[in-house]
Amino acid sequence: MIELGLAPLSRALAKGEFSSVELTQAYLQKIAQENSDLNAYVTVCEELALSQARAADEARSQGNAGPLTGIPIAHKDLFCTKGIRTACGSKMLDNFIAPYDATVVENFIKAGTVTLGKTNMDEFAMGSSNETSFYGPVKNPWNRNLVPGGSSGGSAAAVAARLCAGATATDTGGSIRQPASFTGITGLKPTYGRVSRWGMVAFASSLDQAGTMTQSAEDAAMMLNVMAGLDLKDSTSSDSAAEDYTKDLDKPLAGLKIGIPTQHFSEGLNADVEKCIRDAIAEFEKLGATVKEVSLDNSHLSVSAYYVIAPAEASANLSRYDGVRYGYRCKNPVNLEDMYKRTRSEGFGTEVKRRIMVGTYALSAGYYDAYYIKAQKIRRLIKNDFQKAFEEVDVIMGPTSPHTAFAIGSKNDDPVTMYLEDIYTIAVNLAGLPGMSIPAGLVNGLPVGLQIVGKDFAEAQLLNVAHKFQQATDWHTKSPVK
Ligand code: GLN
Repeated sequence: MIELGLAPLSRALAKGEFSSVELTQAYLQKIAQENSDLNAYVTVCEELALSQARAADEARSQGNAGPLTGIPIAHKDLFCTKGIRTACGSKMLDNFIAPYDATVVENFIKAGTVTLGKTNMDEFAMGSSNETSFYGPVKNPWNRNLVPGGSSGGSAAAVAARLCAGATATDTGGSIRQPASFTGITGLKPTYGRVSRWGMVAFASSLDQAGTMTQSAEDAAMMLNVMAGLDLKDSTSSDSAAEDYTKDLDKPLAGLKIGIPTQHFSEGLNADVEKCIRDAIAEFEKLGATVKEVSLDNSHLSVSAYYVIAPAEASANLSRYDGVRYGYRCKNPVNLEDMYKRTRSEGFGTEVKRRIMVGTYALSAGYYDAYYIKAQKIRRLIKNDFQKAFEEVDVIMGPTSPHTAFAIGSKNDDPVTMYLEDIYTIAVNLAGLPGMSIPAGLVNGLPVGLQIVGKDFAEAQLLNVAHKFQQATDWHTKSPVK
């Protein structure tokens, strides 16, 4: 049963084909077999999961079941979970047990889901390969010598290896879409502000957004129904009405206008990946869509602007880890300054320190205008490019990543090469737009992701576009699990 996606599982539970306890046990058994090698979970909550599953079965027997009642899911380990460690891939938070649930987690608990555990991730969500995690790399279930992508590598691998029905994740510059692409699953990053950030460990607050990792667009719509909405505890959460994201799934695509950005089909894109993407776009034409080229003139500046803005915000957000309030504290400090210094030197990994240094530099007097303000101006130009394109088209499509998953260890010693991993995804975060990655082919047996970007708050449309493609093709059903 665990090979089914979230939506089919929801239907099977409703029909009484099996219980949530049986389903949860099946996942826990699979996790016990696979996780020591894959390293997708950093915490497995066996007892909690089984007690939630029993409660879900009980609620169902009393006629109180919703669509997600009894569905076993996993949470990226940066969502605070009451009573369960939330370590965010860092030694700094290795001992941190959150005293409350993130709004996202709370919403899932109210919906009756089962929490299987917390998934591995790059330290403080900084990375594209899951290799910066204090808990070690995650392996790609398609080929265990390869990375699953990052920073939500654990959530991606857990869904791909069928170690959960769906998982939460976050995307600051590509961390949902790129790992979804590398592991052959469906990743959705909603519009900035669509989902509450309250109780998410902050990386870059103006870019961070929670989303979903699932087998299909239909599964994603069901998860988003639980996650989306105004939260007064997050002042950047949007008060635009959340919708039923399943309602438009089956709308025909006749007349859909697709924009293809010239800049996303240029040098550096693997030729076989490009072929998969072009074939996928041709499939949309068969479904009644029309295609035209659009230009995102400033897209070549997106990675540079991001690597000023994101580290600047991170350097401010991470100043709270001082050894005083919570998290790691160095042993036997001789005075306050020694404690600050050694706590941060010992508690943070190399990539996190690099970001703090870059961010602090960009925000310092004399450099602020030259770097930070300049990057903010570029951010506006990037947003304008999308707005202009969206005057002519409904959605924008292209590759999620220029290539398929790469070998563990192959890009570690060159941070800039790693930063370029997000070349097609980062502008979407800078513009605050919703984006997805859906499976669109295999190259040498490895998954390729198609990125679909929509207008602000057009999640229902994105999910519709993705769902129709998934009804017409079977790439999303391909699995590394024999
Ligand atoms: N890879 C990008 C980074 O390292 C994006 C990470 C993310 O989206 N969390 O910052």
